[in-house]
Amino acid sequence: MNKIYFCFPGGKHKALTMSYDDGKEEDRRLVEIFNRYGIRGTFHVNSGIKDNIRIPMEEYLDLYQGHEIACHTLTHPTIARCPLPEVVNEVLEDRIRLETLLHRPVRGLSYPNGSYSDEIKKLLPSLGIKYSRIVGDSHGFDLPTDVYEWKPTCHHNHNLLEDGKAFVDLHKTQYLYLMYVWGHSYEFTRDNNWEVMEEFCKMAGGREDIWYATNIEYVDYMEMMNRLQFAADNSFVYNPYVTSAWISVNNEIREIKGGQLTQL
Ligand SMILES: [Zn+2]
Repeated sequence: MNKIYFCFPGGKHKALTMSYDDGKEEDRRLVEIFNRYGIRGTFHVNSGIKDNIRIPMEEYLDLYQGHEIACHTLTHPTIARCPLPEVVNEVLEDRIRLETLLHRPVRGLSYPNGSYSDEIKKLLPSLGIKYSRIVGDSHGFDLPTDVYEWKPTCHHNHNLLEDGKAFVDLHKTQYLYLMYVWGHSYEFTRDNNWEVMEEFCKMAGGREDIWYATNIEYVDYMEMMNRLQFAADNSFVYNPYVTSAWISVNNEIREIKGGQLTQL
């Protein structure tokens, strides 16, 4: 029987994703650094807050091109303290405003002030939200088991370069690994440490064995993997999606094209 392993796009076994909150002016410099090294991520923004320390919404499409723009609620309340209908409005109205601007589905969230509850988590699928990031550091590279309580590897002020070095050095291809970095771009100016991100991106960017993904690309890709239709004896697979999936068959990387039945 064929031995099948799921892989990331291109047959890779490591993925890197970034998540930065609040959409403040310093995102300009951060995006420029990401782009220079081919690193991609998600910018979680509050569409209901307008002030002179945030990127104007009309600039989102240009500035964040190639990255994901996702929800961080309309006005950034500590939502575990709010009535649930208010939470619904904070998420849905944020989605509506962002989608009106971007003309594409907006399905990601990070919890403002890291605040959430079991009730809020249960609400999110019905609001069209596919994942939500919490705060904290796992300092690990395991794939998330619950993407509605998605804990990153580290904040950029918490051993980023050490964790990054460990990630880059991972070589056991029998595992899938994910590194997930989070923070706020204004912290680099506040702490005068832009060089930490510069150094990290230089080390972790442009590598053959890493898939550079936005948060939602990771979530969508893993969902697709779980919906591939394998024959009971692994002799063929049907991919009902339009995009390609990548698997290893007896240690050989195979691209499984969308909408096709593939003999393995
Ligand atoms: Zn925030």
